[in-house]
Amino acid sequence: MVVLGLGLGGEEVAGQLAQADLSVVGVEDCLVGGECPYWGCVPTKMMIWAAGLIAEARWVNGLAGEATVRPDWAPVAWRIRKEATDGWNDQVAVDPFTGKGGRFVRGRGRITAPGEVNVGDRVWRARRGIVLATGT
Ligand SMILES: Cc1cc2nc3c(=O)[nH]c(=O)nc-3n(C[C@H](O)[C@H](O)[C@H](O)COP(=O)(O)OP(=O)(O)OC[C@H]3O[C@@H](n4cnc5c(N)ncnc54)[C@H](O)[C@@H]3O)c2cc1C
Repeated sequence: MVVLGLGLGGEEVAGQLAQADLSVVGVEDCLVGGECPYWGCVPTKMMIWAAGLIAEARWVNGLAGEATVRPDWAPVAWRIRKEATDGWNDQVAVDPFTGKGGRFVRGRGRITAPGEVNVGDRVWRARRGIVLATGT
């Protein structure tokens, strides 16, 4: 099997196929995990949570004492870089896939014939099928 795109969807499918003892090539152009951990769900929740804290703290004056609120983007950016995205390094997601026996290929895949995927100058021929998981 060749799985094209290893975002949340492709990563799950590719991992399950490898665990089922099929020979699997997973092709990812950017970062394994896709949009959600690097640009979507996770970093945005860190931003929203920080904004919520500031909004909450502004209620202190007049209701619960005194507080000075000085918004600062730096700690939010730091958490996104260090804690959410590991410096936009996907090794932590690549290793579990290869650990299950999957073969990981970094690059942009193109379907060039039935069952055939090109990545750069390499060609992968799928005996069983191609999974298209290039984004919702
Ligand atoms: C701001 C924001 C916040 C979000 N918050 C949430 C949330 O809180 N909860 C939630 O459930 N969802 C959330 N989402 C949606 C979630 O990110 C997506 O639903 C999810 O990432 C889709 O996964 P996917 O695998 O289908 O696609 P993607 O994550 O887009 O993965 C597709 C992968 O395919 C790769 N690719 C594409 N073409 C090729 C090619 N030709 N060759 C090789 N690789 C290729 C891409 O590089 C990418 O990594 C949010 C999205 C955004 C933008």
